Amino acid sequence: MADRYFVSQPIAGDRVVLSEAEAHHLARVMRAQPGDEVVLFDGTGGEYRARLEQVTRHEVRLSVGPRLEIDREARLRVTLGVALPKGDRQRWLIEKAVELGVARLIPLETQRGVAQPAANTLERLARGVIEAAKQCGRNRLMEVAAAASWSSFVGAAPGGSVRLLAHPAGEMPADAGAAKPLSLLSPPHSLAAQTEVWIAVGPEGGLTADEVRAALDQDWQAVDLGARILRVETAALALAGAYLLG
Ligand code: SAM
Repeated sequence: MADRYFVSQPIAGDRVVLSEAEAHHLARVMRAQPGDEVVLFDGTGGEYRARLEQVTRHEVRLSVGPRLEIDREARLRVTLGVALPKGDRQRWLIEKAVELGVARLIPLETQRGVAQPAANTLERLARGVIEAAKQCGRNRLMEVAAAASWSSFVGAAPGGSVRLLAHPAGEMPADAGAAKPLSLLSPPHSLAAQTEVWIAVGPEGGLTADEVRAALDQDWQAVDLGARILRVETAALALAGAYLLG
């Protein structure tokens, strides 16, 4: 795949000027020269072949070919609500979620959550989304939404969506039903294209019984991911991956 660069404004016309991080990467890191060819995308779903015309220290001017409608989105539309882990594990989670094809990630505020994203964290995560999309070829950016409370998230899943709550079978509240293994759920390939799949993953400290009940009350299905306790990012990517790749 040719080197890909992100244009933060919708591309219109036959000329584009790259500045800041993308120009720096192209001009200083890649040492690109006039005449070199790259691919541009603006997050709206298509991509463009482009040729460098002028390279300066601060900006790169390119001539742009016609829009190519190349769709590398997943068949199902996955929204991943996750109580974010700390530090580098956040960045790793974002990168892999983009690669797998998650449509939207919503950081969750939970009773035992530890790392709630500040505004500058969300900006850093947004940059991680762009870098991952450049690398993996996605022409749409995974949305990183503002943090949501647990109750608002589990209540917001639209009618007709598949709602999956990752929760170990052995941790289910006594008065709730059993968490099912993936093998007992409808297989992902049986779901119609564009079906909304909403996934919820709790914090390192686990979800409280009240939080689990709140989700079950909104018709979420508890899903057991096996006998081992997975870290937040492992559980999130394993469950999202099962639906996005299945
Ligand atoms: N002791 C905690 C508990 O009671 O859930 C462990 C929390 S785990 C580190 C973080 C989150 O990952 C959990 O809230 C759950 O959403 C998900 N998770 C981890 N292992 C899982 C498993 N085996 N089955 C289902 N979900 C799991």
